[in-house]
Amino acid sequence: MTLPRYAFFKGQVVPYAEARVGVLTHSLNYGTAVFGGMRGYYNHQEDQLYVFRPQDHLKRFLQSTRLLRMELAYDTEALLRGMLDLLRAEGHRQDCYIRPLAFYADEMIGVRIHDLHAEVSIVAIPYGPYIAHEEGAHLGVSSWRRVDDNVIPARGKIAGAYVNSALAKSDAVRAGFDDAILLNHDGHVCEGSAANIFVIREGVALTPPVTDNILEGITRKTLISLLREELGVQVLERRIDRSELYVADEVLLVGTGVQVCAVTRIDHRPIADGQMGPITRSLRDLFFRIVRGQVDKYRDWLLPVYEK
Ligand code: PMP
Repeated sequence: MTLPRYAFFKGQVVPYAEARVGVLTHSLNYGTAVFGGMRGYYNHQEDQLYVFRPQDHLKRFLQSTRLLRMELAYDTEALLRGMLDLLRAEGHRQDCYIRPLAFYADEMIGVRIHDLHAEVSIVAIPYGPYIAHEEGAHLGVSSWRRVDDNVIPARGKIAGAYVNSALAKSDAVRAGFDDAILLNHDGHVCEGSAANIFVIREGVALTPPVTDNILEGITRKTLISLLREELGVQVLERRIDRSELYVADEVLLVGTGVQVCAVTRIDHRPIADGQMGPITRSLRDLFFRIVRGQVDKYRDWLLPVYEK
C-alpha cells in the first residue's frame, strides 16, 4: 500500500510524515479509538471525486466517539471541512478510501476512558476492491462470536473491538474463505468481519436488526431504501438463523469496503445455483451508478470534492 502524502492531524493538513504519535499513546495501548471509513468515487467524465454519504458517516463517527465519552473539538461541519481540505491537497483522480480516526492521545498508563484528551486524524488513500471475489464470494461461519453490546458495543466503530473481526477474518482466509460470517452469542447471524449481511428468501430481503450486535452500516441503510423504493422488494429486519443461510436464494455482504458483494457459497455449500442472483445483480448495478453520480435522484448522497 502506498502511504498518503498528507494527513488532517490536530486541526490542520500536514505532510503524512508529521502525523505521528508516541508508543505510550493511550489508544495504541488500549484500543481506545474510534474510526470511520468512507469511499470517494471518481467520475472521469466530470473529473470529479464524489464522497458517498459523508454526513451520515460522520454522524455515526461522532456517535462512536460518544460511546467512549470523547469530547472532540470538531462537529460534523468541521470534520467535513477538514476532510475536503485533505482530499483537495491529495488531489486523487481515482477511487479512494477515507479514514477518519478519533483517538485518546495521552501518553500515559491507566485503563479508563475518563480524564483523557481525544485528537482526530483523517487520511485518504487510493483504493479498489476490498474483497477478492465480490461477484462470487465464499464465506465461512466463524467459530468466533461477535462482541456483545454489553461487552464492547458493536454499533460503535471502536478500534479495540476490531480484534474480534480480525480474529474471524484471518481464520476464515487461512481456511480458504473470502470472509467470515460472525454469529451472536445466541447463535444468530450477525454480520461479516467488516460488512453487514442480507439474505434473500422467496423474494423477501432479510437483514439482522440493529439490536443484534451489528454495526449500523450506511451501506445497509442505503440498500434497505433501494430494495424497497427502486426494486419493490420487501425488507424485514429480523433475526436470521444460521441454517437460513444455507437455504437462501441469495446472500449479500454490504459495506463501504466490500461495497455490494455477491456471496455464492457458504461453508462449501452453493447458495441456490451458486451464481450471483437477480436481486444482487440489480442492486450492484444501481449502487455503482449511484455512487459515481450517474443517477440524478440520488446525487444528494454525494459530496463533490473539487470546486468547478
Ligand atoms: N459491519 C462492520 C463490522 C464494519 O466494520 C462495517 C464497515 N464500516 C460495516 C458493517 C459496514 O458499514 P458501512 O456500510 O457503514 O461501511
